Amino acid sequence: MSRTYQNYIDGQWMPALDGSTTTDKNPANTEEVIGVFALAGRADAARAIEAAAKVFPAWAKMPMPKRGEILHRAAALFEARADEIAEALTREEGKTLAESKGEALRGAMILRFFAGETMQPTGEIYPSASANTFLYAERVPTGVVALITPWNFPVAIPTWKVAPALAYGNTVVFKPAELTPLTAWHLVDVLEKAGLPPGVLNLLVGRGSQAGQEFVENPLVKAISFTGSNVVGARIAAQATARGAKVQLEMGGKNPVVVLADADLKQAVELTIAGAMLSTGQKCTATSRVIVQREILDEFRDRLTDRVATLKVGNGMHPDTYMGPLVSADAEQGVLNYIEIGKAEGARLVAGGVKLYGDEYDRGYFIAPTVFDRVTAEMKIAQEEIFGPVLAVMEARDFDEAVRLANHTQFGLSASVMTRDLGLALRFVREIEAGIVHVNSQTAGAEPHVPFGGFKSSSSGGREQGKVAREFFTQIKTVYIDPSGA
Ligand code: NAD
Repeated sequence: MSRTYQNYIDGQWMPALDGSTTTDKNPANTEEVIGVFALAGRADAARAIEAAAKVFPAWAKMPMPKRGEILHRAAALFEARADEIAEALTREEGKTLAESKGEALRGAMILRFFAGETMQPTGEIYPSASANTFLYAERVPTGVVALITPWNFPVAIPTWKVAPALAYGNTVVFKPAELTPLTAWHLVDVLEKAGLPPGVLNLLVGRGSQAGQEFVENPLVKAISFTGSNVVGARIAAQATARGAKVQLEMGGKNPVVVLADADLKQAVELTIAGAMLSTGQKCTATSRVIVQREILDEFRDRLTDRVATLKVGNGMHPDTYMGPLVSADAEQGVLNYIEIGKAEGARLVAGGVKLYGDEYDRGYFIAPTVFDRVTAEMKIAQEEIFGPVLAVMEARDFDEAVRLANHTQFGLSASVMTRDLGLALRFVREIEAGIVHVNSQTAGAEPHVPFGGFKSSSSGGREQGKVAREFFTQIKTVYIDPSGA
């Protein structure tokens, strides 16, 4: 019998009002049920929003360092539970246990970072034009914030939204992706055990079109922080900003690695593959294009395809697995469709390109790591986010053409250059249109204390993580005090 998990509303774990549930399954073995979760509808979401609105004044009034103490306790509890959380993550999302362990520990670091932020200054004092005026601007909480998250980093992303939202005094309604509710449950369970008062954080496992839509439309929700696809993000922004809510969006990428002729090829191959294939290419910062200078193209591609052929694909729980399954049947089908599109567009398939069959592969969503070469700038596989283990190799005449190609998409999340030439590395940093830039490191990977987000249609509404997170989760009150009237 699989365990049943409830939603968390106003400090109570409860079933959905209409009794709906959703079943969480392992994408590496769809016969394995991880848990049955209450599936919230609009009415559940409305109830949670009301609870969050009711307790907002008291939570906002609690001294910030006291809120920080709760986050510190949660960080310790989260860390103590890291192995259990990592296993839950691998079983419900599919990434390897090593990646999951890293993400679980990062969750604890993020909680600790924002616990620390509760001891930081909350504003600035300004000189006033008037002799008697004490003039300052203070950061104050925003109100009820709605957090909507995807399935691909189901520990890190919810944590980097929930922790600052709470630290800065907001109350929260949180809707994780339906595919990964167990990791979300752990985060909320830990925060409850750390002493969060009822109603301050509410968990709703539910569909975007139901619980999510209520978040978007309900006037009690003052701000929405969303990470997910561009299509959904654009719709949320249009509806929520029309009613005056604040919106933060983190969306897709088409992240390039540029390999220049002087690069260390062994390192460039390894880092390109890590960026493209770890987490089965299902990272917003995954490498999906590698733009290679003509002189080294053949050698680079041959080394790349030889190495890709050695990657072990399998259940992420096996210690020797490099790449796990796709997250769902839909995700798998989406990737297979793009592989057909790439072939039809005239790109040359040089590795993978197939669904894997036999033994454990028959029970999950496994696709071979895939590489196309002879990919040109206007092809769909060079322009659209595939969100799977598919890498496009593109040729560039020289540095300038490489940068032009790298910038030639609607996205601008992360980018990397492989070179030993410091001058070219710095030109790349200057000329690339990306929010996160790497030199001789893979496009993926984000340290928890620095700003995270992209240019162009990858992001809007302010950066996440680090100190800059407070921009979104606070509003500014400017205060003029003339004591002479007292
Ligand atoms: P998605 O857009 O399908 O779903 C994201 C979340 O939005 C889910 O919780 C979903 O239930 C919810 N949602 C769907 N419709 C909604 C609606 N009408 N109203 C409110 N909420 C709604 O994305 P996904 O498939 O879960 O995640 C993959 C996408 O996320 C990729 O495009 C990836 O690039 C992006 N992503 C971006 C970042 C980043 O920081 N830039 C990080 C991770 C993932």
